[in-house]
Amino acid sequence: MVARFKQWFAPPVFEGDLQRTHRANLLNMMMIAALFLVVMVLFANFLDPQTPIRNFVIDLILIAIIFYLRSRLYRGNVTFVAYSTLIFAFIFIIITIISDGTIRTPATSLFLLWVVMSSILFDLRGFVLSTIAASLAISALILAQLANMMPPPVYTVGLIHWFVLTLTTGITGGLTYLGYQTTQQALKRAEQEVTKRERNEQLLEAANADLRRYVQEIEHLQAELREQYLIDPLTGLYNRRYLTEALARELVRTEREHAPLSIIVADLDHFKMINDTYGHQAGDTVLVAVARLLKEYVRGSDIACRYGGEEFLLVLFNTALDDAAKRAEEIRQAAAVLCTQSEHGTVMLTISFGIATYPDHGNNAEQLISKADQALYHSKRAGRNRVTIWQGEEVRLEQT
Ligand code: GH3
Ligand code: MG
Ligand code: MG
Repeated sequence: MVARFKQWFAPPVFEGDLQRTHRANLLNMMMIAALFLVVMVLFANFLDPQTPIRNFVIDLILIAIIFYLRSRLYRGNVTFVAYSTLIFAFIFIIITIISDGTIRTPATSLFLLWVVMSSILFDLRGFVLSTIAASLAISALILAQLANMMPPPVYTVGLIHWFVLTLTTGITGGLTYLGYQTTQQALKRAEQEVTKRERNEQLLEAANADLRRYVQEIEHLQAELREQYLIDPLTGLYNRRYLTEALARELVRTEREHAPLSIIVADLDHFKMINDTYGHQAGDTVLVAVARLLKEYVRGSDIACRYGGEEFLLVLFNTALDDAAKRAEEIRQAAAVLCTQSEHGTVMLTISFGIATYPDHGNNAEQLISKADQALYHSKRAGRNRVTIWQGEEVRLEQT
């Protein structure tokens, strides 16, 4: 019930049109105030038995007009209602003055209110026109009085009244107009500020997204570049650069964990001959096939690397000498039966191996690789296609 009552008095809202909503709010307030006034007068008239019928009729007509204008306001005819209200109020004030036969304080106040409303509703135009209209109306009343057309007044209206009223309305209206204008401009500026900030935030967000994408791309490229830098393009095995880095790092860990680590160096036998007989292309194919074979025989945690042209190096973690020798032997046998096809026929190949182990044969990468290399050299000298373990100055031949 209370909610419905409140709802009835609430002004209409025009979504997205602040100016229109604002004016409608103002008009609604004016009309409700007028309605209250008329209802109070009507009530007072009821209490006074000498009130002529004419007064009741006027009050009811006023109420009807207010209801009509309010309904127009809700339908969105804000400008129409503004004009109508101002014109209607003007006529009402003039009638009040005429019925009094002169201007008295209530009429002056009404005129001031009227100019204020006009200034708010129609800006500078409203202020100027309403001030002029008020001034002209008073002039006309003076003339009417001079021509004896006005009912006999309580006291006469003079030039001084005209001057004071015009000045007062002018100042009031002007101040109202300026104050309202300043508020409106401040509001508009605040709104623009908010929009600008929102736009800036959007731009910043977009720039951030771009930046994030660039950083991702750069990281991706870096990863790719690093891989290219550390991986042999032909075989897909790690290259010597990676091995140097990784072996030094892993030896530190191995030392800490007191675990063994074995290095197998493998060199293809008479590879130059394979190149010469079957062509460089076939040589490449053999290198790729050997790389695949090596990958098959090492664990994921071990390192298989292409150490030089046709020389490979395996790092077996946590692997003692005998296990490494066994692994090398398996690879040797598998390689011996590995046949690669080329346009000049089937390519057969053998591989020679040399093995050294940490900590028995050395405690740094250089020593270990050098000793495995020496063991390999012995494999070659002893007729190739064999595995040799480095063992003191003389080496132990695993396989003949
Ligand atoms: P040994 O049994 O003594 O090791 O004889 P070898 O012929 O294998 O040894 P040598 O060092 O004389 O020759 C190695 C050859 O490997 C020479 C070179 O042309 C070839 N080679 C090196 N890298 C590549 C490569 O990427 N592709 C091909 N097809 N051949 C390569
Ligand atoms: Mg060779
Ligand atoms: Mg070689």
